[in-house]
Amino acid sequence: MEKETLKKIKKKLEAEKTRIEEELGNIAKKKGKKFTPVYPEYGSRDEENAAEVEEYEIHLALDKNLEKLLGNVIKSLAKIEQGTYGKCENCGLEISKERLEAFPSANFCITCQSKKDNLITKFFSRLRPHKNVRQPKDKKTRRQ
Ligand SMILES: [Zn+2]
Repeated sequence: MEKETLKKIKKKLEAEKTRIEEELGNIAKKKGKKFTPVYPEYGSRDEENAAEVEEYEIHLALDKNLEKLLGNVIKSLAKIEQGTYGKCENCGLEISKERLEAFPSANFCITCQSKKDNLITKFFSRLRPHKNVRQPKDKKTRRQ
């Protein structure tokens, strides 16, 4: 990836990080809890970063969704530092520039993401089966 593109994406990620942290700070204030942000230092090793992200998430223990977002943003920033940014976590292929510009904290390429999304959709459709879909008879689990 070109340095200019990476720079732009890094800026976006940093802005996103600040925005989420502010939002989390507001939630903490509303809940009347003391908010002490722990700013992770980016270590050179993967385990270090993982531990910092984990610690960060535990310390926040707030809105799960925001935490997840923030974790992803931090992970992406760490990847930029390590020079591994832009690779799909599943298949290892380069994630397209267009996708990264639209979703800077994307962990998967479009192919792997749609596979994941399909699995989720299938999972939920199984929970709420459609009336017209015939359900297979489950003889094995029936005890007599
Ligand atoms: Zn992939």
